[in-house]
Amino acid sequence: MIDGKKRKEEKRIKDEDLFKVVDSTIDSRTYLSLIQIARRLNIKEYYGAISSGKEAKIYPALTRDGKWYAVKIYYVSTAASKRALEKYTLGDPRFKDVKIKTTFQLIEIWARKEYKNLARLSEAGVSAPKPIYVFRNILVMEFIGEEGVRAPLLKEVPEEAITEELYNAIITEVEKMVNLAHLVHGDLSEYNIMVWDNRPYIIDVSQSVDIEHPNALELLQRDLENINRFFEGHGVNVEPVEDILGRLEI
Ligand code: ATP
Ligand code: MN
Repeated sequence: MIDGKKRKEEKRIKDEDLFKVVDSTIDSRTYLSLIQIARRLNIKEYYGAISSGKEAKIYPALTRDGKWYAVKIYYVSTAASKRALEKYTLGDPRFKDVKIKTTFQLIEIWARKEYKNLARLSEAGVSAPKPIYVFRNILVMEFIGEEGVRAPLLKEVPEEAITEELYNAIITEVEKMVNLAHLVHGDLSEYNIMVWDNRPYIIDVSQSVDIEHPNALELLQRDLENINRFFEGHGVNVEPVEDILGRLEI
């Protein structure tokens, strides 16, 4: 009895050691999922969030054999979805579980969708983080950067590195994305491209759609306009969107 209790206590302390930084925003279900993922992927430590957007947070994780991963946790905690959740559950316990289950299912779908899109990009040879694992509302992918320090976003790249070469490299990735992976990003901008070793990495593809999607062309046009606007603003000669579209099989 005492031995069993002791072992349990030791395990608990070990699990707590997994987290380098206490993050009170991680709910208990997600916390347990992170422990399961750590066992599965041989993760030694999770570090503090490197980004906290409206719908997701990213944490670096270090494995026992020295590999770094980016762990993306999807949340429902936007003010709007919280309000919606409250509206439907307040004072009616019968609906509470149903609603929460549905919301969880929804974010799990987003996590899986991003995993699948990353897999498609990876298979097509597009420069993007390699997907490693997806479990519930958590996606594990290759870490872009070094030693748990993320690479800069295109938005953060120093002026002298915003060159025509970098522009062409990004357009080439978009071409591969459409022609080989048959995907349109749908939210491409200087905020969803990382730059590491002068090479662009396409990130944040949970909302990306197949080229057969009814809005695919419109989304692609907007993506290309965003990229052109950014580079033009930095004095780079850009190719007209129409010309780029001419090379794309969409
Ligand atoms: P946000 O609203 O903060 O942009 P998001 O839902 O858009 O969140 P992402 O864009 O996928 O999520 O990731 C958020 C941030 O985390 C990125 O801007 C980038 O700085 C960092 N990041 C994302 N993926 C990786 C990765 N694979 N390696 C390192 N850092 C990453
Ligand atoms: Mn993003």
